[in-house]
Amino acid sequence: MNADTTLIIGAGQAAAKCALELRRLGYDGQITLLGDEAIPPYQRPELSKSYLARPASPDEVIMLTPDMAERFAIELKLGVAVKSVDVAQRVVHCGGEALKFDKLVFANGGRARPLENALNLRTLNDADRLYQTLQTEKQLTVVGGGWLGLEVAATARSHGLSVRVIEQQNRLCARSVPAEISDLLLQHHRDIGVDIHLGCDLQEALSEHEVVCACTGMLPNDQLATDAGVQVDRGILVNDRQMTSAPNIFAIGDCARQENLPAYENWAYANVSAERAAYAICDIAVPVNPDLWLWSKQGDLLIQMRGDFRNADECVVKKKGQGTCYYYLAEKKLACCIAINDPARFGQSRKLYRSQKVLNEISAALD
Ligand SMILES: Cc1cc2nc3c(=O)[nH]c(=O)nc-3n(C[C@H](O)[C@H](O)[C@H](O)COP(=O)(O)OP(=O)(O)OC[C@H]3O[C@@H](n4cnc5c(N)ncnc54)[C@H](O)[C@@H]3O)c2cc1C
Repeated sequence: MNADTTLIIGAGQAAAKCALELRRLGYDGQITLLGDEAIPPYQRPELSKSYLARPASPDEVIMLTPDMAERFAIELKLGVAVKSVDVAQRVVHCGGEALKFDKLVFANGGRARPLENALNLRTLNDADRLYQTLQTEKQLTVVGGGWLGLEVAATARSHGLSVRVIEQQNRLCARSVPAEISDLLLQHHRDIGVDIHLGCDLQEALSEHEVVCACTGMLPNDQLATDAGVQVDRGILVNDRQMTSAPNIFAIGDCARQENLPAYENWAYANVSAERAAYAICDIAVPVNPDLWLWSKQGDLLIQMRGDFRNADECVVKKKGQGTCYYYLAEKKLACCIAINDPARFGQSRKLYRSQKVLNEISAALD
């Protein structure tokens, strides 16, 4: 029997997942989510895809309805921003209240990197605003040729806008994918009529009267933790059980970063880190080998990716029908798989990736 209270700062994807996982593991203490958005926890990925492509309702993206929350005895305090955390007294201050905790989870996500006079896309409100813009404008400039920028560009094209993408790097998604995938993305966007500008100086590329959507990355919300004396370095620093430098305080999702690893900033990490924290709170050994994968949908192009291609010494490409799968191998073990419109092969790659089997007959093993 857990007689304690877990407070979760944030009521987004990681927060909701952590609360549900705690209940699944049998935690029967008090769980309270403190969220500054007035809406129940929702998932963001469709905000740049189907939600932006047609008239849509928030119900399509909400992942923890008030009914569900009641069923699982999860308290949702929405529309309240946490102002400060007193680590020594184990108290969180928000909305004029001081709430005691035994365990605390930072799940307060991140915010879009701001750009003056530009629209952003992080929240449901942002998506509604951008959708209205796509209804009324004829032209859109997207700053940033990463996953989000390319999704917004493709969706804006589907609304019939003329779309320009401005990217500082010399190739698309340069941080995330190898050059051959950047080339493929470039070709796809040119085919659907997006005007892509690479290697651009932002100040020179933007003119005064154009409608701009900034998709230039996310900044982790780590100030609250810094102010509380919790260790932070471009995200709240955690170990492999999502524990921060302060006892009984955890961090998950976009606000967290494991020391010596890059920030993942994706849907799968929000879930995996939420599960890990729930295990740690319940004092159960954390399952190893998480499946950290990501996807992006840009018009009719579905890209799915797991693993890291950077140490690969070989690339095997397999094509079937409309799909193509790129397998990146390091010393004949699968280091990374990138599937283009090939969800079946991508699904199969999971087992191979997890097993880290040496693939002597590579072509046969990947068929
Ligand atoms: C438009 C968009 C599209 C995306 N597409 C994909 C995709 O295709 N694939 C993929 O893998 N990932 C995608 N992602 C990333 C993925 O959605 C995020 O990694 C995930 O939402 C992170 O979850 P989180 O709970 O950590 O943060 P969030 O979902 O941001 O939730 C954090 C919550 O905490 C609240 N909060 C912040 N400060 C406070 C405070 N002081 N007090 C109370 N509440 C606070 C925030 O307002 C927010 O509601 C996308 C993200 C966006 C924005």
